[in-house]
Amino acid sequence: MNNGSGLRVVLWLSGCDHKCKGCQNPQTWDANSGILFDAKAKEELFRELDKDYISGLTLTGGDPLHPSNLDGVLDIVTEFNKRYRITQDMVSNENDNHNMLNGNVNKIRLLCPNKTIWIYSGFTWEQIFSPEKCYKQIDELVLEDNNWATLKMRYDNSNFMKRAKIIGLSDIFVDGCYIDSQRNIQLRYRGSENQRVIDVQESLRQNKIVLYCD
Ligand code: SF4
Repeated sequence: MNNGSGLRVVLWLSGCDHKCKGCQNPQTWDANSGILFDAKAKEELFRELDKDYISGLTLTGGDPLHPSNLDGVLDIVTEFNKRYRITQDMVSNENDNHNMLNGNVNKIRLLCPNKTIWIYSGFTWEQIFSPEKCYKQIDELVLEDNNWATLKMRYDNSNFMKRAKIIGLSDIFVDGCYIDSQRNIQLRYRGSENQRVIDVQESLRQNKIVLYCD
């Protein structure tokens, strides 16, 4: 109930490079921590989601958009859309991209039932949908962080595409790292002022960030 609207199934994913000061779940930073998410776990996840009183799925962590999670998370949100939204033709197209997702927004909304996907990530909307605008920021990070291999993987093009697909198939995106100095316990669904609760489909439709709530 604290991880999105309604009564939700929540999956915490291991793996996070953001390493925010004051993170509540540092045990999830290691991509190898936790319990293996296998076919049985996936079956259990969807068995819970099938229940009519469940409002949807929340993916958090750790970071669901960490490189080690992208394939698994894309599989889950694709399955969710197939199961509850009948957008199979869209998600099965290997060549789909941000523009393609934009073109299907109306279709997504028309077919969208009550169940929703919420995603919490340390990445921002801009880092996912306008990575070219973040190059300067990336360069600064590279200068600060000598672990080039990690950064290269984080900002690898195919990973960007997968992140855009995952977010494009979701409903609400709570974006950005937790910033301890901006902590505010009165905020809904997030921990620090910089984080935004973004209505994904409205934002794609209007080509600007539309908040789900303040
Ligand atoms: S993005 Fe989230 S899980 Fe990762 S370090 Fe920051 S607060 Fe923790």
